Amino acid sequence: MSAILRYGDAMQTVSAALMPIPGHIDPVPVPRGVQPRPDGRVDLIGLTKDQLREALLSGGMELKQAKLRSKQIWHWLYNRGATRFADMTDIAKAQHPWLEERFVIGRPEVVEAQVSSDGTRKWLLRSADGQDYEMVFIPDADRGTLCVSSQVGCTLNCRFCHTGTMRLVRNLTAGEIVGQVMLARDSLGEWPSQPEGRMLTNIVMMGMGEPLYNFDAVRDALKLVMDGDGLALSKRRITLSTSGVVPMMARAGAEIGVNLAVSLHAVTKDVRDELVPLNKKYGIEELLQACADYPGANNARRITFEYVMLKDKNDSDADAHELVRLLRHYDLPAKVNLIPFNPWPGADYECSTPERIRRFSDIVFEGGISAPVRTPRGRDIDAACGQLKTAAEKKSRAQLDREAEEKFAALG
Ligand code: SF4
Repeated sequence: MSAILRYGDAMQTVSAALMPIPGHIDPVPVPRGVQPRPDGRVDLIGLTKDQLREALLSGGMELKQAKLRSKQIWHWLYNRGATRFADMTDIAKAQHPWLEERFVIGRPEVVEAQVSSDGTRKWLLRSADGQDYEMVFIPDADRGTLCVSSQVGCTLNCRFCHTGTMRLVRNLTAGEIVGQVMLARDSLGEWPSQPEGRMLTNIVMMGMGEPLYNFDAVRDALKLVMDGDGLALSKRRITLSTSGVVPMMARAGAEIGVNLAVSLHAVTKDVRDELVPLNKKYGIEELLQACADYPGANNARRITFEYVMLKDKNDSDADAHELVRLLRHYDLPAKVNLIPFNPWPGADYECSTPERIRRFSDIVFEGGISAPVRTPRGRDIDAACGQLKTAAEKKSRAQLDREAEEKFAALG
C-alpha cells in the first residue's frame, strides 16, 4: 500500500507502513526516519555526531577529512546557529559548494508567529512535507521556557486538551524537534550559544503530542539539546511531560534523565478514565508507582504533577485530600501545578472558580506539598496547545498567503 505525500511542489510516493495511524488507546507509532527531500539533499539538523560524520563519508569525503569537518560543522550548527555553509569560516571556501550540493541546514517554516501582550510568543510551524505543529515561548522574570511539540496531533484524546481533538498525523523527527529549539534561538537572537544570560533557559516537552510515544526521536533530540558543545541546556532545565505511558517511564529516566512531569488531572479512576483515556490502560496506582521508581527523582528534582482545574469535575475538597493521600502514600518528591482550564469553543468543561482553585491549592499545601496555581499565559493569542493550528486551518490558504505578504511588506 502506498500514499502520496506533498513535498513542496513535488509529489513523492512513500510506503504507508512508515506512518501508520495508531489506534485510540494503545497506539504503536513507528518512528519516522529522516525523509529524503525532493532535491535529494540531507538535512543535517537532528543527526547525531556519528550520523553527521557518516553523512559526510557517504557523500564521498575521505575519513580523516570527515572526522575533522563533522566536528567543525557540528560546532557551527549547534553552537553558532549557522544556517549557511558559506558562514563556516574555518571550512575551506572550495568545499562549500560540495557541502551545499549534498546537504541543507534546515529550519521549520514559520506559518504564523504571534506575540501576546504578556510576552508569550507562539509559532505555527510547517514541516517539509506540509505538516503543521506548534511551539510556544513563555518568558518570566528569571527564566524563559520553550514548550516543544513531539507529534503532529496526538492519539490520546485527553478530553480537556485541544490537541486531543486532532488525530495523530505523524511523529516529528529528531530534527524537527531540535529544530524548534534552533528556531527559537534564531528568533531570540541567542547565537552563539552562551552559558549565561540566555532568554531561553528551560525546555518542556509539553506541546502537541505524547513524547513517550515518540521515544527515540525525543531522546535523540534532547541529547542534541543537552550536548555541552552545542545548545548546552542542562538536563535539570528540561522537563518531559507524559500523560502516563508507564512502560516507557523507566527508559526515559535511564536514557534521557530529564525532569519528569505527569498529566495527572484526577484522583479517581472514573474521572481520570474520562479526562485521560490512557488511564484505562495504565491506572493511577501503576502510574504513581512508576513515578516512585523514576530514576533521579528526589526532593531537589521533584516530579511535577499537572492538574487542570475543571469546575465540578475534579476540583472538590475531597479530590484535594485524596491527591495529598496518594502522593504521600507513594512517598513521591512531588510538586503539583494547578492549571486553570483554558476553554475553547465547544469544550466540554468550564474552569473552576478562582475561590475553588485557591481552596484546592491551600489543602494541598497544608498536606505538605507545594501546589502553585499557574498563571494563564498568552490567552489573547490562543496559546493553549493545539489552538493555533486549528485556528489556522479555519483560515483559507489565500488568507494565510495574504497575511504572510503583509508581514513581509511590514518588514520592509
Ligand atoms: S494532553 Fe498531551 S497526551 Fe493528552 S491529548 Fe493533549 S497533547 Fe495528547
